[in-house]
Amino acid sequence: MAQIKSVLLWENQRRYIREAIDEGTLKGAIIPTGSTEQHNEHLAMYHDTQSAVYVSKLAAEKLYPNVVVTTPLAIGVSEHWMDHKGTLTLRPEVFGEVLYDVADSMRRHGIKNILIVNGHAGNSGPVMQRLDGYKEKLGINIEYHSYWEAYSGELVKEQMESGVCPGHAAEFETAFALAAFPDNVDWNGVDYDTAKLTISDEGQAKSDREYHHQAKLATTEKGQVMIDVAVEWVAEKIRQMIA
Ligand SMILES: [Zn+2]
Repeated sequence: MAQIKSVLLWENQRRYIREAIDEGTLKGAIIPTGSTEQHNEHLAMYHDTQSAVYVSKLAAEKLYPNVVVTTPLAIGVSEHWMDHKGTLTLRPEVFGEVLYDVADSMRRHGIKNILIVNGHAGNSGPVMQRLDGYKEKLGINIEYHSYWEAYSGELVKEQMESGVCPGHAAEFETAFALAAFPDNVDWNGVDYDTAKLTISDEGQAKSDREYHHQAKLATTEKGQVMIDVAVEWVAEKIRQMIA
């Protein structure tokens, strides 16, 4: 039986994808969506994209060789963080159309089950507004979930000292990064109180400071627990879709 070589679409040569689709071993695709945006003073801008890809990849590996992960949408809808230099943002309608085209590409190749696995909260409104339209136009099984939907209130209480999840670059995301890609966490030279921040919204300025302090509660162990739960949950979602 023909099999994909890697669960990451972009690592395959065309023959692996073609043969796996033609022989019916490849049944579903995950499209990770994230962002490139400020993640407070200590966390890399790529976090949301990298975490969505990380969860998607491990979930797809559990279902190997039936599921492939497409190239992620690495820029999301992040207008609300444009006070912070470096943040990239797409207009909601542009993001929605790009996401549609990626899903449509996979549909045209014969994939009938697509799970969008999101890592950036700002993408959810724009996608949820369009999801019924996607379903109607594509005529396939397509769903959208942020991977932290996997977490019960109980689990958050148990694992997150701050009680906050997902938050933004706070305890949860920092713990995830410590467990999955620790180089993204850089406290070197961070001095929040003297940093020249220009946050125009008062509420955001307040939560930014809170998140900064909550992030210090993060540990690798907590991150690993949260990752394992998310991977299992996403794997089960796509397993049900392709069944
Ligand atoms: Zn984030």
